[in-house]
Amino acid sequence: MSRQSVTICIGEFVLYFGAFGADVVMSDTVSSAKRSEIMSRVRGRGNKATELAIVSFFRANGINGWRRHVALAGTPDFAFRRFRIAVFVDGCFWHACPLHGTLPSTNREFWKRKLDRNRERDHSVNLKLRRAGWTVIRVWQHELSNPRHLKRRFAKVISATSESLGK
Ligand SMILES: [Zn+2]
Repeated sequence: MSRQSVTICIGEFVLYFGAFGADVVMSDTVSSAKRSEIMSRVRGRGNKATELAIVSFFRANGINGWRRHVALAGTPDFAFRRFRIAVFVDGCFWHACPLHGTLPSTNREFWKRKLDRNRERDHSVNLKLRRAGWTVIRVWQHELSNPRHLKRRFAKVISATSESLGK
């Protein structure tokens, strides 16, 4: 399976193709009506394909007890209440993955500010959750193509938290 990601700029649009689906992102110059029309078709964070990929990863590996879209800071994609683990699946483009994050060649300043803001938001969400006693797992979109690695990551965190919570 390819772990490559490709970013293509076409005028005001940036098409981002990751290992699990594509994202359409727009520059500042797209009118707000057009923007909201497009954004209504593109989910704010992650996408259907990545969510389904991690659900099937959980099922295939007997990882139970998760719930989706629990009302917590940053609205994690998944949460394990019992172990107080919050899981986010971060798109390589939107969250500026160190391996696949790219800055589109047009409107660089706009994108740099936007992606910096995303990173700052992720950071402050992590802090908020940790202060409230949650363990945060951020899964990169590209990690979904390596379930063995992902399984080790989850097993490690789940066993550490269950030990510290005495469960
Ligand atoms: Zn990545």
